Amino acid sequence: MKITQSEIVISAVKPEQYPEGGLPEFALAGRSNVGKSSFINKMINRKALARISSKPGKTQTLNFYLLNEALYFVDVPGYGYAKVSKTERAAWGKMIETYMTDRAPLKAVIMIVDLRHPPTKDDIMMYDFLKHFDIPCLIVATKADKIPKGKWQKHLSVTRKVLEIAEGDELIMFSSETGLGKDQAWHFIERKMKE
Ligand code: GDP
Repeated sequence: MKITQSEIVISAVKPEQYPEGGLPEFALAGRSNVGKSSFINKMINRKALARISSKPGKTQTLNFYLLNEALYFVDVPGYGYAKVSKTERAAWGKMIETYMTDRAPLKAVIMIVDLRHPPTKDDIMMYDFLKHFDIPCLIVATKADKIPKGKWQKHLSVTRKVLEIAEGDELIMFSSETGLGKDQAWHFIERKMKE
């Protein structure tokens, strides 16, 4: 899909603010600084739409980006940021759980991890959460351009092993620098939109 129109519709703090209309939604989840904003911007051909609002320390909101008036990307605040207090962490958990387990238009969660490093404890928790609630997902291992091609398969297999990725779950490599994986990610989304 080629995105020609993208706009932020709402930064929601509670379910009453989620958009109506039932357009398919894809949530983006990942550790702070993993490259989630860059992933969103690359996917929608924008330089900085998803940059400011998702920075650590900012208000924890779900940002709904309307794309081509056909679907939403829902930017979830990054997890695993060390300086976040226990209370904030709990509020984050509650908001994400409510959204991800109780939102009819949510088609899948796109979980971003860093191809360079083994998934962290927080990544494992996120993936286990998705599996526990049977939420469809795509795992995107980004920053592939920072690793020599010859090592890609090795890193992918570490990601797969550490997360214990279930059979049938797709894991793709991505680079916001080169655009690697962009078509594959869009194919996944288009397929899910039809389901
Ligand atoms: P977020 O906190 O998850 O939204 O992360 P950002 O998208 O802001 O990215 C964090 C840092 O990683 C920034 O300096 C980005 O330029 C860099 N980055 C993100 N994706 C890539 C990528 O695919 N390749 C490279 N080389 N750098 C990336």
